[in-house]
Amino acid sequence: MNENIKKLQAIIDESDNIVFFGGAGVSTESGIPDFRSVDGLYNKEWDYPPEEILSRDFFFRDTAEFYRFYRAKLLPTGIKPNKAHLKLAELEAAGKLKAVVTQNIDNLHQEAGSKVVYQLHGTTSRNYCLQCHAFYDDKFIVETGEKGEKIPHCKKCGGIVKPDVVLYQEGLDDKTVEGAIQAIANADTLIIGGTSLNVYPAASFIRYFQGKHLVMINKSVTPQDAYCELVIHEPIGEVLGQITVSA
Ligand code: ZN
Repeated sequence: MNENIKKLQAIIDESDNIVFFGGAGVSTESGIPDFRSVDGLYNKEWDYPPEEILSRDFFFRDTAEFYRFYRAKLLPTGIKPNKAHLKLAELEAAGKLKAVVTQNIDNLHQEAGSKVVYQLHGTTSRNYCLQCHAFYDDKFIVETGEKGEKIPHCKKCGGIVKPDVVLYQEGLDDKTVEGAIQAIANADTLIIGGTSLNVYPAASFIRYFQGKHLVMINKSVTPQDAYCELVIHEPIGEVLGQITVSA
């Protein structure tokens, strides 16, 4: 166990109101690609940048193309929680962690067993008919795609089904924001993981932290490193995987 892990263990041992603030890096270790990382393949397959496809305007302008991208990039199948998700759920069950705040739209924290999860950018697991507001899960979106339906339509009224994720040009959900800020403001330890904090407005949330220990775990350097008591430039799953949970 290296020095940094020992320091993190000591902080976690003395804390009983930890909040975890996570970003894309937490999910990439489970195999979910970060759609913002543009590669050569990407450029050949899509005519628009991801930020444009995942915007509200684009959703209504070219719903079929939106769903082609969304199903391919944001609804990967066979994905499982990794060591980071599992350890955070374990910390919550032990009464030490009070909330996970995440920018990710997958369901991996809940699958790992976390109960209090504020998903700032919404979730792929909730989808609603735009006309009658009927609910559909993520399986429905996948299955309609497999059947060749380019756009998922409501089984009750035929309306277009839209994912409950925050698209570009859309605002965050007020209740989720309030809950996340409250949790961060009350925390004694804030662990930021798997995010370089360059996605606003979500990244500005950490300003509400007034507690004792601010920890950053991210593979690369971030602008916030200078403000943190402890900075670990290693993969989040490997780091949290080494932590021992005692009540
Ligand atoms: Zn409907």
